[in-house]
This record gives sequence, structure tokens and C-alpha cells, in this order.
Amino acid sequence: MAKYEVIIIGGGPAGLTAGLYTSRAGLKSLLVERGIFGGQIINATLVENYPGFPQGISGAELGSLMHQQAVKYGLAVVTAEVKGTAQGQPYGISTTEGDFEGRAIIIAAGSEYRKLGVLGEERLTGHGVSYCATCDGFFFRDREVAVAGGGDTAITDALELTRHAKKVYIIHRRDQLRAGQVLQQRAFAEPKLEFVWSTVVEELVGDKVLEELKLRNVKTGQQSNLKVDAVFVAVGLMPNSQSFFNIVDLDDAGYIITDETMATSAPGVFAGGDIRRNSPRQVSAAVGDGATAAMSAFRYIQEQRNEVGITSP
Ligand code: NAP
Repeated sequence: MAKYEVIIIGGGPAGLTAGLYTSRAGLKSLLVERGIFGGQIINATLVENYPGFPQGISGAELGSLMHQQAVKYGLAVVTAEVKGTAQGQPYGISTTEGDFEGRAIIIAAGSEYRKLGVLGEERLTGHGVSYCATCDGFFFRDREVAVAGGGDTAITDALELTRHAKKVYIIHRRDQLRAGQVLQQRAFAEPKLEFVWSTVVEELVGDKVLEELKLRNVKTGQQSNLKVDAVFVAVGLMPNSQSFFNIVDLDDAGYIITDETMATSAPGVFAGGDIRRNSPRQVSAAVGDGATAAMSAFRYIQEQRNEVGITSP
């Protein structure tokens, strides 16, 4: 079994920053990522609020640069999915590409889009059902589309979609938006937006592509159909913490509880980025978490070397 001083799980901004710091500090480090490096930002056409890039930078390019910088200092990377973690010292990580052992673990596995969980959703994903307005909105020029959700993402997506679509319905399960006031004001002033209040999507209908939505008003129980070419699902995010519940404490929503040093309830296990409780979900914040988690892991390994007499793997 391959042995490392630090194993980092997740190759988004938090994980790649952690890997940069631990490998530059001379710790034998492995980063496990199941998909593309960059995390959620790879979906962003332009990131305008990451310092150092006054003209903005595409999310995919930023992710790729972070990856290049981390591996330059010796970070080992493996493309694999984590299947489980075993409590103990060292910690065991089992993945689809084999098992690894680490003295310290940094969990930066991020979050993923919450699904509506209705009939037709999985089958029509990529065929009129999307979770990324920035990525797919362009394909629906002069069409009628819908957004499901009432938070900041739903409203940001709906406003973005008005640049392409001729009409955008916002389907929200309550009669009040969760989104911030500034976004709400912009949305209410946008003539291409139409709100469908107190309504849930019950089914996504279509043969090869999405044709219509089956809706139900939660107050009256009345059912209706809405013909749209696309639905953008923006009903929040879910932390990718399923593989870690047995080693660290999670909050009720499944986010990992950390202190300000990014330490979790398990000694030697740190977490950062979107997967931790109260994350502001910003690239800059994830980068900060990654650096903090790496420095905490470094201190932990040093203590082990000095006090317990454990040597490098
Ligand atoms: P969110 O704030 O959790 O909002 C999720 C929305 O989806 C809520 O309106 C919720 O309804 C609805 N919803 C949840 N589950 C649903 C279901 N099963 N069926 C139908 N509707 C459902 O998530 P978010 O909008 O993705 O935002 C996540 C975080 O990122 C927030 O902290 C947000 O402030 C931040 N963010 C900020 C910006 C910005 O520009 N400042 C942009 C994007 C995101 P209820 O309202 O009834 O709960």
C-alpha cells in the first residue's frame, strides 16, 4: 500500500492550494481527484473576483494553472474516486485506483448540485436539463426556458439567461425568494422574467429532449404543464461528505465541522473549501482554507515526528 504523509481529497482550489503548500513544505503528498482539476470553477466562463487577474480569468484556465503550480513542487496526483476512509493512525483511504495510507488527511472534496429528484431528470440531463446556466444558456437563444429555485444561484442564473432566451420562468416552491435584496430588485425589474410562485416541478417530460414540465401549485394542489426548451436546476448544493461521516463530525446538512485552523473532530484530519460548515463558497476563500489546512497538517506531522518519533513514510 502506497504511504504518504498527507493525502488530500479533492482537486478544486482548496485541495490544489493545500497540495501546493504541503509539497513545497517537503511533505510527501498525494492528491486524489475523481474528475477534472479546478472543482466547481471549471464551469465559470469568467472569474472576476479572484485577486491577481484584473481582467478576469476563465475558471477552466484558473483550475489548470493551480494544478500546474501544485505538481511543480512534487505533489503526486491520482484520478480516482474515494470509496471509504478508515479511522486510525495512519488513516486508510480506499479508492477506485487502490488503497493509500496517510498520516494527515485534508478533505477538500467540495459540493455538488442538488437534484430535483423527479422523474425524467436523470434521463434528460444534457438534453434540456442543466445545472449550469453559464455553461449551457447560450444554446437556448430566443427560446423559452425555466429556472427551478429561489436562491442567489437561481436568480443569478435567470438574469444570465435573459441575455440569450426570449423568456425565462422562475419556478419557486414558496411565495418569497431566498435570494439577496439586490438580486431580487434586478429580477423584478427584468421584463423577460416571469415568476411561478408556490410551485414545484413534479416531472420532466420529453422523448429525446425536454419538452415540458409538469408542475403543481403547493397551495392549491392544481397541476399544470409548462412548455419550455430547457430547465436550469438551481436548488442548492450538497457537500460531498458521504465517504467521511465515519471519521469526522458533520453538521445537520452534511458539512464538515472545522475550527479556524481547519481541524476537524479527528486528530490529523483537516477540511476546507465548500465542504466545510459556513464556507462562503468563494474561490479566494477556498484557497485560504487550503493554505490553512496545509499549515495545520504540517504542524501535526511535525508534532508526530518530534513527540511520537514517527518518521517519514
Ligand atoms: P440556496 O441558497 O440553498 O437556495 C436554494 C433554493 O432552492 C432555495 O430557494 C430553496 O427553496 C430551493 N430548493 C431547495 N431544494 C429544493 C427542492 N427540492 N425543490 C425545489 N426548490 C428547492 O442555494 P444557492 O442559491 O445555490 O446558493 C448557495 C450559496 O451560494 C448561498 O450561500 C448563496 O448566497 C451563495 N451564492 C451567492 C451568489 C451571489 O452572487 N452573491 C450567487 C450564487 C450563490 P427555499 O427558499 O424554500 O428554501
